[in-house]
Parts: sequence; C-alpha cells; structure tokens
Amino acid sequence: MTLDQITALVRTIPDHPKPGILFRDVTTLLLHAEGFAAAIDQLAASVDDRPDLVAGMEARGFVVATALALKLGAGLLLIRKDGKLPGATIAEDYALEYGTDRLTMHVDACAPGARVLLADDLIATGGTALAAARLVRRAGAVVTGARFLIDLPDLGGAARLEADGVATSSLLRFP
Ligand code: 5GP
Repeated sequence: MTLDQITALVRTIPDHPKPGILFRDVTTLLLHAEGFAAAIDQLAASVDDRPDLVAGMEARGFVVATALALKLGAGLLLIRKDGKLPGATIAEDYALEYGTDRLTMHVDACAPGARVLLADDLIATGGTALAAARLVRRAGAVVTGARFLIDLPDLGGAARLEADGVATSSLLRFP
C-alpha cells in the first residue's frame, strides 16, 4: 500500500473536540486490515536498532505500541493517565491548552539503561511524548526514539522532541 492510500484511510472530523479543530481519526485506518498492517510494517521498518521496550501512551498509543513491540521483538511499556496503574508509580504533568494532564508509569517498569522507543498515534505539540520521555529518563532508561502514525508539523511537536534529543519520525503528515 502506498502512503497516499494509507493517508486516505484516516478520517478527518471537523470541530472535534471543539470548534476549529480538525481531528485526525485513526480508527478508520485501524478498521482496514491491509491499511493497518501496512502502516505498522512501514513504521517498524523505520526503526534501525531494536529497542528493549516500546512505550505507548494511553489510549491510542497502546494500539501502535503493541503492534510495533510485537513486530520489533520488544516488550511493551504502558504509560497511563493518572490513577489507573495498580503498583507504585512516578508521574509527570504536561500542559494542555487549558490546564494540565498527568501521565504515570510503574516505578519499576523499565530497568536503568533499558532502551525505550516511544509510540503514539499522533504527535501535535509534543507535550504528551515529552512527558513520557521524562518518565522513562527518570527511571534511568534511555529514550532511543519516537514513532507516530501521524505528525501535525505545524504544531511543532516533532521539532521539540528532536531538540530534546529524541530521534523522531512519523508515517503520515497532515495537512
Ligand atoms: P500533543 O501532546 O502532541 O499535543 O498531542 C498528542 C496527543 O493527543 C496524542 O496522544 C494523540 O492521541 C492526541 N491527539 C491530539 N490531536 C489528535 C488528533 O487530531 N487525532 C488523534 N487521533 N489524536 C490526537
């Protein structure tokens, strides 16, 4: 499948979650067996060195991270919203347009020195991925890169991650 064909499987929903936002809906891509497989294959092919873990950010990041982890032969690290994980956690807050949100990780989820690849469905401002990178680094592990199905380059997230030393790439770009 070509990138144009994969791109065409992403549905755009205007004014979600609020007026003026064009929401890129990946659920339509996930529904398409061939498109989903091609997207994951191509994203996995962009990873040169196998990480120990792929870390996914709740919730759509779990889908991408799970598929990548299986493909790359890596373990899966779940980075969750506040209050979900049963064990002892560490937390990082990140800014939203209004207010803040919080990501958490089990304190013992990754060993010091473990090589961790971040994965999510989409990068916009990069706030989510940067908070995830801080969690992984606080555990003494190494962020080897970040992969996304979709980049919104106008919002600058990929550039922010690169400036933070995280090698970042995405399969698709919108607009
Ligand atoms: P950021 O923190 O980079 O500003 O926003 C990225 C996070 O918000 C990701 O976890 C992603 O799932 C979600 N997100 C923001 N905008 C969109 C969008 O248009 N489509 C989808 N599928 N997710 C989005």
